[in-house]
Amino acid sequence: MDVMATKQVLVIGGGVTGCAIAHDLTLRGVEVTVVERGELASGTTGRCSAFLHSGSRYAVTDPEAADECIAENQIMRKVMPSGMIEPDDGLFILLKGDDPAYADQWFQGCADAGITAKEISPAEVARREPLVTREISRAAITPDAVIEALRFALVFAATARVNGAHFLPYSEVQDFLMDADRVIGLKLKNRVTGELFELRGDAVINAAGPWVGEISSLIGIRIPLSMSPGVHVIIGKRLVNHTINLIRKPASGDFAYPQGPQTILGTTSWTVENCDHLRAPKEHITNTLRDGEVIIPSLRKYPVLSVNAATRPLIAKPGANERELSRKFEVFDHAEINGVESFVTIGGGKLTIARAMAEKTCDVVCKKLGVDAPCRTASTPMVSWRRFYVG
Ligand SMILES: Cc1cc2nc3c(=O)[nH]c(=O)nc-3n(C[C@H](O)[C@H](O)[C@H](O)COP(=O)(O)OP(=O)(O)OC[C@H]3O[C@@H](n4cnc5c(N)ncnc54)[C@H](O)[C@@H]3O)c2cc1C
Repeated sequence: MDVMATKQVLVIGGGVTGCAIAHDLTLRGVEVTVVERGELASGTTGRCSAFLHSGSRYAVTDPEAADECIAENQIMRKVMPSGMIEPDDGLFILLKGDDPAYADQWFQGCADAGITAKEISPAEVARREPLVTREISRAAITPDAVIEALRFALVFAATARVNGAHFLPYSEVQDFLMDADRVIGLKLKNRVTGELFELRGDAVINAAGPWVGEISSLIGIRIPLSMSPGVHVIIGKRLVNHTINLIRKPASGDFAYPQGPQTILGTTSWTVENCDHLRAPKEHITNTLRDGEVIIPSLRKYPVLSVNAATRPLIAKPGANERELSRKFEVFDHAEINGVESFVTIGGGKLTIARAMAEKTCDVVCKKLGVDAPCRTASTPMVSWRRFYVG
């Protein structure tokens, strides 16, 4: 019998990160079970802005994140099934009165990261985007795109499932099974039937997004994570044709983008201690509408369809506010850091770079398990999200 195929890994969290990990591990011949306390993508993933970032948003303030985003943006365009990535280009605009020196830095940052930022005239912006403000001094087209976040995660999950991964929705982790300092499994509760059950594995990966700290605290491990929610306001009409970002240091209310028949405005940020039962604060909604009007002056003519909020899992840094925190990710090998064997946490990151996050995490876990199959996700085409349901 193939020894590698007998390795079993339990993944906590069925967001895009957990689904990408399942895809990566199955391609390496590992047996995977993903446990998720709700539906897949019912955490942050299902309510994020769903930009497939080009990295240009971070070109000045977070060049490392910019490099990661453009690399993954290009890979996703190759391995995602056709139709998954809306063909919209990103439109970045410098408002009259905003800092022209920052725009110079931004163009340079994009060039340094290898992100194409093709300058277009304000007249060209007016032609492409009749409802967008005319108060523009510079503009550029970038390879940013919009995706549908649930389906994006399901593509990873569907491909993993076709390759043998198991997904257990409505299965909440309540505790760990330990053998001395080694994690050997999980104690779970089926949230539909109330049944308590156990699963065993050779390793456990904590991919619970903003809940990674809550999970690891079950065995006394602290993860340096900042939980930073953001609000979106959804307008019930498609008002723009591109994803529109302001050329500014990333800040609240600096983008608008189309998704199907709607326009989404965002986003804001604050910090919370607990990201369950998140509510969008009223002032975040009014501020988002106020800032949205700067981009689309006629915005108030159209109905607000809904509002949502979700929490970013960001790696904390002492003294930095949420906007200053990098969108980078970190893999925590708890054997090295805390002396707890067979347990790894993935924290931080973004949906755009979920594949790269999974690769790094699976490299660490596979090394522990003695699995030497290399990562193949950068070149393996994935199947339609529909196959998650129909096989
Ligand atoms: C407002 C906002 C906008 C964003 N916009 C973008 C964007 O445009 N582009 C981009 O690339 N990124 C964006 N991000 C970041 C991106 O959404 C996240 O980095 C990514 O979705 C995190 O995915 P995840 O799988 O790690 O976490 P999640 O999607 O939160 O998944 C974790 C899962 O763990 C489950 N879980 C928790 N506790 C338990 C338990 N006890 N037992 C079992 N399961 C459990 C949860 O139910 C959840 O489904 C945005 C984030 C926010 C908040």
